Amino acid sequence: MNCEILCVGTELLLGNTVNTDAADLSDLLSGLGVNVFWHTVVGDNPGRLAEAVAIARSRADLIVTTGGLGPTYDDLTKNVLAEAFGRKLEFHPEEAAFLKAWFARNTSVRYTDNNLQQAYLPEGCTVFHNDWGTAPGCAFAEDGVHVIMLPGPPNECVPMFKACAAPYLRSLSDEVILSHQIRVFGIGESAVEAIFREQMERMANPTLATYAKFGEVMLRATAKAKTEAEAEAMCRPVVEQVCRTLGSKVYGVDVDSLEALALSLLKEKGLTFATAESLTGGLIGQRFTALPGASAVYKGGAVTYCNEVKAAMLGIDRDMIEEKGAVSYETAAAMARGARIAAHADLALSATGLAGPDGDGVHPVGTVFVGLADGENVWVRQLMLGTRRARVRQLAANNAFDMLRRYLQGLPILED
Ligand code: ATP
Repeated sequence: MNCEILCVGTELLLGNTVNTDAADLSDLLSGLGVNVFWHTVVGDNPGRLAEAVAIARSRADLIVTTGGLGPTYDDLTKNVLAEAFGRKLEFHPEEAAFLKAWFARNTSVRYTDNNLQQAYLPEGCTVFHNDWGTAPGCAFAEDGVHVIMLPGPPNECVPMFKACAAPYLRSLSDEVILSHQIRVFGIGESAVEAIFREQMERMANPTLATYAKFGEVMLRATAKAKTEAEAEAMCRPVVEQVCRTLGSKVYGVDVDSLEALALSLLKEKGLTFATAESLTGGLIGQRFTALPGASAVYKGGAVTYCNEVKAAMLGIDRDMIEEKGAVSYETAAAMARGARIAAHADLALSATGLAGPDGDGVHPVGTVFVGLADGENVWVRQLMLGTRRARVRQLAANNAFDMLRRYLQGLPILED
């Protein structure tokens, strides 16, 4: 099935909003074995949207739209799509009742009659009830083209895709598509691709594909079969082979992120950790505490930007920092040790370095030391992470979580 994602919203064209829906939906659709061949963005303009729909239906057999399902005058997606496919809009009393009940509960948002527009959907469609917001989505098929409409806000679009659109798409085929995501850290996409390229080109079912994620690589093994068990039996050897080939660089299969893995391992082992951050300014703690359940294992963190605060809060010898420098192996080690003791934690992570654009006259921009301490040892990774400030900081945090998960998985912390 070949798909075009059609995102509607002038804010996307003006650059006010990044089109994350397209990226998220592409990822989810490829997990279902759907080929996404086109991403189109069109503003809130009925004429241009109708043109875009005409082009999409001429080349794709699945059109997924996002945005423009709300109650305001510029929310025109349903009207344009319904007209393009020759369907009237039909009133759905159950959706209207839901909307009224929603407004009764959310008294800070004023109900106006135009909200009821959201209860009108193309006749004969499958309604996707929106449990995350107010605008329902829907799906229908006409002339061999399937249309799926989802709301624009990412916190509605993504869960609705998973809960409603994915089962709808699965029901169109009598085959099961199953995929596993193999998450890899510490090797670039081109190096991974070079290892598997020939094999990937030869494969038809199951397939293997690589995707560059921020600072890491994801491989997806996908199989199509009559039953889930058959698809699993086809996928599993591919996953195992990739894991064997890449060794400890594979940090997990079907896990969300390095920090999510670290959280589940810490919980499993009943261990706690703390952080001491300089160049990352709290990013490691922020990324970790974004995970539900972090409080079970995270004791807290200190943002120690200048030397005096490093010394005062983490109990580090000021003379040592002056002698070795804030950006040094020794300071990273002392920060991790100090944070562990100060927080009464089992483990601690630290990060100190130069995110740029200014250097310290000694090290090049992008020099980073990331430390991990337990009750007996301390390990420090020295890294060169480039010159882009935001990237240097995120990669420093990735490395910190990678060291933590390696420790918890009993793997070598500094190298394979
Ligand atoms: P609502 O009921 O909120 O009006 P809607 O389906 O009408 O939902 P829009 O009005 O088009 O959606 O967009 C609402 C908000 O969702 C936008 O202001 C924007 O912040 C976000 N949004 C819309 N489309 C996208 C997209 N493709 N990627 C990321 N965010 C988006």
